[in-house]
Amino acid sequence: MTTHEPTDITIIGGGPTGLFAQFYAGMRKVTSRIVDALPDLGGQLTALYPEKWIFDVAGFPKILAKDLVRQLAAQAGQFGAKSYLGERVVGLTQENGHFVLTTERQSFPSRSVVIAGGIGAFSPRRLPQACANPWYGRGVHEIVTDPEEFRGRRIVIIGGGDSAFDWAHQLLDRAASVTLVHRSDRFRAHAATVSEVQAAAAAGRAQLLTFHELADITATDDRLSGIVLKDIKGKTTRSIDADAVLPMLGFVSDLGAISEWGLSIVNDEITVTSTMETGRAGIYAAGDITTYAGKLKLIATGFGEAAIAVNQAVHWIYPDKKVNPGHSSNMEIFGQKDD
Ligand SMILES: Cc1cc2nc3c(=O)[nH]c(=O)nc-3n(C[C@H](O)[C@H](O)[C@H](O)COP(=O)(O)OP(=O)(O)OC[C@H]3O[C@@H](n4cnc5c(N)ncnc54)[C@H](O)[C@@H]3O)c2cc1C
Repeated sequence: MTTHEPTDITIIGGGPTGLFAQFYAGMRKVTSRIVDALPDLGGQLTALYPEKWIFDVAGFPKILAKDLVRQLAAQAGQFGAKSYLGERVVGLTQENGHFVLTTERQSFPSRSVVIAGGIGAFSPRRLPQACANPWYGRGVHEIVTDPEEFRGRRIVIIGGGDSAFDWAHQLLDRAASVTLVHRSDRFRAHAATVSEVQAAAAAGRAQLLTFHELADITATDDRLSGIVLKDIKGKTTRSIDADAVLPMLGFVSDLGAISEWGLSIVNDEITVTSTMETGRAGIYAAGDITTYAGKLKLIATGFGEAAIAVNQAVHWIYPDKKVNPGHSSNMEIFGQKDD
């Protein structure tokens, strides 16, 4: 177990809220770190919809989710604070007057904690068929972040929701072939995207197979080379050549250990006060994981809550530092003249 030096604030979650919290900590001249279970920063934006446009982030008439994450990471990273990725926080204790957050491999002492854990640590829902298990990371891709990875390849997408149709649409002009497979003919995706993929299928640019499910995966020289599909109605099977299978079955999320820390939690959300306090002194929360009367689960809301949580934490750790940060436009830390 690697034990790190104490920091002022440990931020659980590197989604938009956690990233903005990290920026604010740096601006307030306190030390911070992000710990996130996912391999990349960005939370839901990176894991669920990197290629979607977002229209309701202040200052950007529209911005791709992945570009917003890049900008947030640049803003957060300017003070040199670190992020620890692929590390799920599983424990919290208090020792020698500070908190200690632990993952399976590392331990992070911290004077204060900001929980920006969104909908909890989430992982893609796996295919129910055991035949897929040996192929995860070797042809079966649970998370897609860069559609270019699939240029010129034969792709099978399994699922009937937004992610399945969004990626089918994204890959139409990149992949050598796109086959979308779904267990029924009812789709849970945006109607416009469904229509575009259906039109592509009608024009021979894609294949849409309803009432089919995965039956087996075939390999050549230990490389995934195709899949066998079962027609649920006709009870027949068919084989399709493929280089990659993308199961798009949604995500399962889990608050996990966070629900055992004595915080005020209702329906997997942390009830916070207007100062983002969680019911346990020194632990604050912000973003999708919080609830209060009038709460909106939006990126914009998370930004405001991150600013409140961090400024409260700063004052809690260092009572002589004010809660009110002042205006960044006057700050010496940005090379401006301090008031
Ligand atoms: C398809 C889709 C489209 C959307 N479009 C918009 C939009 O247009 N505008 C808008 O405002 N909002 C939109 N949203 C909602 C928006 O994405 C969320 O409000 C936002 O992501 C919340 O940010 P967050 O940082 O609070 O949480 P998240 O983005 O969920 O990030 C939380 C992070 O915490 C990590 N984490 C959780 N528990 C642990 C743990 N125990 N240890 C380590 N890490 C942990 C997770 O791995 C995750 O990375 C959309 C959501 C979806 C699914």
